[in-house]
Amino acid sequence: MTETPDFPQPGILFRDLSGLFADGPSLRAVAGALLDGFGEMDAVVGVEARGFVLGTAAAVNAGLGMLAVRKAGKLPGDVLTESYDLEYGTAALQVHPDTLPAGSRVVIVDDVLATGGTLAATLRLMERAGWRVVGIAVVIELVDLGGRAALEALTDAPIEALLTL
Ligand code: AMP
Repeated sequence: MTETPDFPQPGILFRDLSGLFADGPSLRAVAGALLDGFGEMDAVVGVEARGFVLGTAAAVNAGLGMLAVRKAGKLPGDVLTESYDLEYGTAALQVHPDTLPAGSRVVIVDDVLATGGTLAATLRLMERAGWRVVGIAVVIELVDLGGRAALEALTDAPIEALLTL
């Protein structure tokens, strides 16, 4: 992991996992660890964009499919939309509501849990789509930013971070 101060804007210490993604043994190790301990699940949900890399790797490792939660404007047809605040800026996420059957058990995967805004919006999308979140997995949790508490206000699902900073 690299840490870049003041990226993408002043005051943000940006944690980048590109080096981990580019290293085969590291990617395999993370893929194997991310879904540990969550029990039965039907699919993995990956949040754009680094959640796609991690979610797909973890899903393939577990023999499951990966559902993409995308930034607004990328998905055609009927979509659900939820807006959210980032550590820097605001944005919206979308999902196709008919991709999985109602009641499907999903684990949400992303690279970094910061304020929790991104994963909170993803939780709201899952609820509106009728899917049951049985876990949330990130590689890095930035504990001082309080994201865990924000998510625990929305879900009883376990939240696992491979690394807390
Ligand atoms: P948040 O919604 O505040 O929890 O932010 C999490 C999302 O923003 C994740 O998808 C991360 O990729 C990205 N992110 C937020 N803060 C950082 C950071 N300091 N370093 C790297 N990525 C970050």
